[in-house]
Amino acid sequence: MASDARKILLVEDEKAIRDAVAAYLEREGYYVVGVGDGQSAVEEFEKHPFDLIILDLMLPKLSGERVCRAIRDTSDVPIIMLTAKGEVEDRIIGLELGADDYLIKPFSPRELVARVRALLRRTHMADEPQVEVLDFSDLVIDISGHKILVEGKEVDLTASEFKLLTTLARHPGRVYTRMELVEKVLGYDFEGYERTIDSHVKNLRAKLGDDPRHPKWLYTVHGVGYRFEAPEKKADKQ
Ligand code: CA
Repeated sequence: MASDARKILLVEDEKAIRDAVAAYLEREGYYVVGVGDGQSAVEEFEKHPFDLIILDLMLPKLSGERVCRAIRDTSDVPIIMLTAKGEVEDRIIGLELGADDYLIKPFSPRELVARVRALLRRTHMADEPQVEVLDFSDLVIDISGHKILVEGKEVDLTASEFKLLTTLARHPGRVYTRMELVEKVLGYDFEGYERTIDSHVKNLRAKLGDDPRHPKWLYTVHGVGYRFEAPEKKADKQ
């Protein structure tokens, strides 16, 4: 195993699935540590650094939800949740707990590897500390200068609108639930404030000239929240 291989913690109590997924990931060049319960997952995570976590929701000893919370208390490591049910509620739970992506069982190992690869790429891009300007051609977000340019013209945003836009734009394609945005943008945790996010998004769209029926950047994910898309991001073309 190459020493620079990305390290993945795989938490899955069904041994057959765990072994199959581990074998598949290892063939793709990843270093995999597999554990079969939530308690071992937390212990393993405290002992070693990982680049990504694959986390089953239904686990013995400590549930996937509680493992996710425990990890999120100290780390931004990318997490992919595995869920047995396709219910929207389960997906929302995963995303609200701070998982970055989810897969519904049964899934193909090929699909999982594709998600792992995409997530590691996305995380790597977002983590680069020198990125102080997010340049999406028509939309330029100068984070250090606290400035937004739409088609070259400066647009005034409130502090909350600025934070909302940068939160979404730092992770193009990632879906954020309203609750997550409340916590990240407004900094408090109360269900009644979810609709506040809708108002901020509405105002932000108006200022950016982004039509919700034909969005360019800000997309509504029905029943869940919002995501930012960057079809013309310059960095992707270089
Ligand atoms: Ca399970």
